[in-house]
Order: sequence, then C-alpha cells, then structure tokens
Amino acid sequence: MSGQSIIDNLGITKLINAGGPNTKHSGSRPRPETIRAMKAMSEVFVDMEELLIAAGRRIADLTGNEAATITSGASGGLVVQAAAAMAKDDPERIYQLPITDGIPNELIIQRGHRFIYDHLYLVPGARFVEVGRPTDCTVDELAGAITQNTAGFVHLESPFKEHLGVPLNELVDLAHSHNLPVLADGASMLPPRENLTKYTGQGADLVSFSGGKAIRGPQSTGFLVGKKEWIEYARLNNAPNPVAARAQKVSKEEIAGLLTAIELFTDIDEEAETSKYREQMNFVVDQIVEIPGITAKVVHNYDHYIPHAVIRLNNDWAGHTYEEIAEKMKRTKPRVYIRVDHRPHPDRMWIDPLNLQEGELEIVANKLRTVLIESIDGK
Ligand SMILES: *Cc1c(COP(=O)(O)O)cnc(C)c1O
Repeated sequence: MSGQSIIDNLGITKLINAGGPNTKHSGSRPRPETIRAMKAMSEVFVDMEELLIAAGRRIADLTGNEAATITSGASGGLVVQAAAAMAKDDPERIYQLPITDGIPNELIIQRGHRFIYDHLYLVPGARFVEVGRPTDCTVDELAGAITQNTAGFVHLESPFKEHLGVPLNELVDLAHSHNLPVLADGASMLPPRENLTKYTGQGADLVSFSGGKAIRGPQSTGFLVGKKEWIEYARLNNAPNPVAARAQKVSKEEIAGLLTAIELFTDIDEEAETSKYREQMNFVVDQIVEIPGITAKVVHNYDHYIPHAVIRLNNDWAGHTYEEIAEKMKRTKPRVYIRVDHRPHPDRMWIDPLNLQEGELEIVANKLRTVLIESIDGK
C-alpha cells in the first residue's frame, strides 16, 4: 500500500503542497519518527489522565515553559482557554458549560485581533466584548470594558493581526491587576523556536500553538503552554472529561506523535534549516524573476516565519489575476497548491517550502514559470 494507491482507489489526485501548512490542503507532513511513535503507541493501553499529565510535563520541559497540556489543534486550545477562563477548576461550572447562567462569560478582545478562528472562543458559551477600532486600541479602552461579567482577555499573535493595538505586556499588566487571565493564540508563530517562550515570558497565562503546522506533528494536534494553575484549569475543561470540549479528543497515538515531533522540532539547528529554505526559495525566484510585469523576491519577516518566495503582479502585468494563476496551478497536472494573500484584497501570492518533498521544488518552479508565461501569451 502507498499513499498514491490509497488516493487512486478513491479516485482523487494528489497535490504538491507549495502553499504551506494549511488545514484545507492537508496540513504538514509528519517526520518518519513521528509516524513510528504513533504506530508504537498503538500497542499499549494507559490511563489517559496519567498520559496527558506526563505528556504535558514533557512538553513544558522541551519548550522551556512552566506547564503545558495537549489539545486538538490550536483551535481546540482556544475552546479550552475560554472554558478555563469561565469555569477554572469548579466542577459545577465545568459541567454546566456551554450554559453560562451565573458565570462571568465575557472575553474582551481588541477589534484588530478579530480573526477567522476566533469564534472557537465562543464554543463553550463565552461572548466577545470588542474594544477599539480595527486599526488600533488603547489600554484605557480595554480597562473601560471590564465589568463583573468579564472572564478574561483574548490576544492574537499572528501576521494577520493589527500591529498598532495594545502590546501583550501592557495587556497582561491590566488583566493581572484585575485578577483576569490573558488567553493568547500564537498558533502559527513557529518557527522561530524562541516564540515557544516569548508570549508566556511576557505574562500570557495560556498560549495556544498548532502541532500540525511547522512542528509537523499529527495534523489534529496542538498544545497550550502557560502558568501551572491555568494549564490545570485547561486540562480539567478538556477531553477526555465529558465537558463542552469532549468532542476534541486526542488519541494516545497522536499524543505520542506530537511528543516526538516537538522533540525533533526543538532539537533542529534553526539557522541551517533557514538557509536551506532560503536557498530553495532563491531557486524559485531565479526561475521567474525576469518575466515582465512581476516582482519576485525571497521574504523572511514577521509575515513569513520561514523564507517564502513572494510574487507580486505589477501595474504593467499583462496576464491573469492572482486567483486565476493559483487556480491554474492547482487544476492542471501536476497539481500545485500555492497561496494567494487576501489581506484585504489579493495583492500577492507565495511559495512556502515547508511541505515540499524531494524533487518537488523543481516541478513547482517550472510550472509557475510556465503558467506565468502562458498567462501573458494567452491574453
Ligand atoms: C492555524 C491557526 C489556528 C488553527 O490551528 P489548528 O492547529 O489548525 O487548529 C488558529 N489560530 C491561528 C492564528 C492560526 O494561524
């Protein structure tokens, strides 16, 4: 059996994933050691509470945090963060959610931090109180939103957030002076590995990371890092307990896979990894940079946590739109997924090297070159 035979059997065709670890395009590729750990773990049974507590401790050690616990993706982590903020370790409240009668259930969020995944916070019954403007917000505005009904603050760390809002450390000072937690979503902010402790270092009580993006753990996994007491509240409000988050269970095999993936991820020479990606992306840029009407360059900054080949269509571009180009890349064989940025309108597309396998870099670069050139010729 091979992956190819499985999809042949189902009558679907494979994609080369040059767009990054996007869930709709099947995430990232676990390393062989991770798959081996999952297979090995299928041979033993354990008490899941013991496993989750021990695995959380291991992740805390590996990442340099006070405490950690495993969730079903970073999204699952957001659900559990909200439940923890509302119910803490009170069994009555834990089992009452998502009905929040008599429980403070408001999460204060800066308007510039609203994001496509933030409704996960509302799953266990929380409500948002939005503050500020889409472009900015002040500490006073956040303070003015605190009431008897406040359960905590939500903070996003992502290339997609507004950069001008209240910084995390100032939010933490405000929240803690009112005895409220700061719940942070840092799902995709890895690498750099230093971010594993950056937000907890700034005082966030719980920070959610994806296990299925650059860490290359099982696609369904994620983890929370944070303060000991808050990690314990999170664990109590999470599967396998019969709570609002029970549907988000993570199997022992996935837990073993995530542990191995984090071990490997934290052990890698980040500089060597970055130069390899940079070299690959330089190759892509070299193949297309002379095509008239485009700008192509390697970008490695806040928006792109590993080097990406970013392509812009200039005003004098005579070919198709970003979406038409990406569609063509994906529709015709060999099918290649590339990413178009929609913030707020399509204004660039990029190649992300994370998921490229042996031999695929050349295929992607050649196809992109051909599609771009045909795009001009065809108009
Ligand atoms: C990817 C992402 C998520 C979802 O993470 P999963 O691990 O796929 O559940 C949530 N928030 C942000 C900011 C993300 O980038």
